[in-house]
Amino acid sequence: MLDKDSLSVSRTPIRPNSNWREQLREGFCDPDSLLTFLGLESNVAPASRRPDFPMRVPRAFAERMTAGAMADPLLLQVLPDPDEARAHPGFGTDPVGDLDSRSAPAVLHKYQGRALLMTTGACAVHCRYCFRQHYPYAGQTIGPRRWQEALAYLARNEDIEEVIFSGGDPFMLQTRKLCELTRDLASLPHIRRLRIHTRMPVVLPDRVTAHLQAWLSELPWPVVIVIHANHPQEFDPSVDHALERLRLTGAHLLNQAVLMRGINDQVHTLARLMERGFLAGVLPYYLHLLDRVAGSKRFEVDEPIARELLHGLRIRLPGYLVPRLVREQPGEPFKLPVL
Ligand SMILES: *Cc1c(COP(=O)(O)O)cnc(C)c1O
Ligand code: SF4
Repeated sequence: MLDKDSLSVSRTPIRPNSNWREQLREGFCDPDSLLTFLGLESNVAPASRRPDFPMRVPRAFAERMTAGAMADPLLLQVLPDPDEARAHPGFGTDPVGDLDSRSAPAVLHKYQGRALLMTTGACAVHCRYCFRQHYPYAGQTIGPRRWQEALAYLARNEDIEEVIFSGGDPFMLQTRKLCELTRDLASLPHIRRLRIHTRMPVVLPDRVTAHLQAWLSELPWPVVIVIHANHPQEFDPSVDHALERLRLTGAHLLNQAVLMRGINDQVHTLARLMERGFLAGVLPYYLHLLDRVAGSKRFEVDEPIARELLHGLRIRLPGYLVPRLVREQPGEPFKLPVL
């Protein structure tokens, strides 16, 4: 049964410090301080320190973790682990072949009609399962010169109908910068849709400012925003409120999640995730099998178990709340359905 509390949508005022840039600076950036905040013993193994991909967690997200719970599903997504330093066969630094699909600086053109733009390498949170955790962002995101080259590529390829802002997290850019990008894109007549992949409405809901809303409302294309929540506990009234502000702009809201051992590999957890998202106005999109990126092995769920979980969801949920279970396979023309 769903408990009523976790399913009610209420509206709370914005946090006292609603400046999202300050909140970014005030986030947790070392495991000891986060564990102490949660009342947990901080005996973090030195081996789990990763200068190349350090811990990063906004307080707004940490506040949704359960104090005293080492196995909290939000904590496990962000806490570095000594196993990240170990090599495992089959796990590499570019699991989905991103580097081979670069078409211009900062552009990944892997699928027909859709081009993905690496808007920034930065994120508000560092998810330990992230498939781009080893991506060589330096020199591969849009700087001034590279943006002109990327734009020229998009202009030349008239079959591109959808531009996807990705990264990193596009909402890490200042709204002013986002306005510049879409102003330039608006000069390309073949663009018909804009998609934005972002985890910020979930991990730092105050990022959805009035200025951001105004920008979204005025875009000349239908907009799809794909948020990224893996567990129902990631939603709270502040997230509901941010998502409501996004919906008010007319954007379509979808959620994608990664299936992860010990975090959401239970039918009831996944069902609650889909139902809780729906209450916040979000429909499920993809449920991804883990991309086998170096450092993420502890999260892997075997495919037969994934199939069983999806079967369980089909039994319990209306069709529109069942996500598409997919695996990304380099070289394939779409993300492969698993079931
Ligand atoms: C996932 C992805 C897309 C979008 O694929 P959809 O199946 O339309 O969501 C586009 N480009 C790249 C490089 C991707 O990885
Ligand atoms: S927010 Fe997305 S891109 Fe950023 S670390 Fe998490 S999974 Fe990776």
